[in-house]
Amino acid sequence: MLQLDGRNGEGGGQILRTALALSLITGQPFHLGSIRARRRTPGLMRQHLTAVQAAAAVGQASVEGAALGSTELTFRPGPIQAGEHRFAIGTAGSVTLLFQALLPALLRAPGPSTLHLEGGTHNPMAPTFDFLARVFLPQLRRIGVDVRAELRSWGFYPAGGGQLVFHVEPWKEPGYYDLRERGSLREQWAVAAFAGIPYAVAERELEVVGRGLSIGPAARKPLLVRNSRGPGNALLIGLVHEHIEELITAIGEKGKAAEQVAQEAVEEARGYLEHEAPVGEYLADQLLLPLALGRGGVFRTGAPSLHTRTQIETIQQFLGAAIRSEAISERVWEIEVRP
Ligand code: AMP
Repeated sequence: MLQLDGRNGEGGGQILRTALALSLITGQPFHLGSIRARRRTPGLMRQHLTAVQAAAAVGQASVEGAALGSTELTFRPGPIQAGEHRFAIGTAGSVTLLFQALLPALLRAPGPSTLHLEGGTHNPMAPTFDFLARVFLPQLRRIGVDVRAELRSWGFYPAGGGQLVFHVEPWKEPGYYDLRERGSLREQWAVAAFAGIPYAVAERELEVVGRGLSIGPAARKPLLVRNSRGPGNALLIGLVHEHIEELITAIGEKGKAAEQVAQEAVEEARGYLEHEAPVGEYLADQLLLPLALGRGGVFRTGAPSLHTRTQIETIQQFLGAAIRSEAISERVWEIEVRP
């Protein structure tokens, strides 16, 4: 049985999610100790426990240690089940991360699947639904991955209760991924989504974004969200280049000024615009697993984050994939995945 250490690298939920995905695909059982040892609240939180239970249901696995707060898990996978699957996190835990944990297995399932997921859809420190729909899934489409994603309702922290539906087709013909240039900037846009808070918050955010990034009024939109269980605010900035769209997100918080939320997003957007590599920090760690499971590929990004480095290590523990990451200039790195 493969022995994994949850203290490795970034030491958070990613090691667990990647291990679940790869175990289902390879049939390799694993034991994971010191789960999320580098987080303030170590062990399995509701969203990680749901990921374990969901992976166990999709892959008919037997599991030991699947309990809230557990810091040890043993997972023995069985055959992957296609079809309808429904999982609810029960808190505002991120359903986009849950989706990313289940996707690889469903791509290898014997038939199409529909996933109904309930929880947080617009969370800090996780991809938002919009990031999946505009950045992650379009890049996977280039290598033949066929997934349709629908946002039925929004889930903000702390109420959660957002609903996402994914239709996943088995991955028939994986293609080689090659993204080394972003191409020219085609369009910039900003949306300030808000539910249960004053309209003025969205207006103030868009004002800051407009000034900070020279995005004109026609490309700035407040979006009143009616289908949300609780209040919340997400500021989304789209940076559309010829070969990729990057999406910057800032999530509003109680007690944090709208101007500050927007300023953080503006700075992150500027960081991307001033760089030349196409793949942003977050997409970089998220692309590695699909590339390692398909025909591989090459992309350029900034200096690899700790998440990216940890992801490379976890993938290599399960698969024989060769992953090269190399600085090709002061700020640009090239990552090549050879399965
Ligand atoms: P973990 O910290 O282990 O739970 O993993 C967090 C995951 O969320 C990583 O795959 C990150 O790339 C991703 N992530 C965090 N923040 C963002 C963001 N603003 N946009 C897109 N993805 C994000």
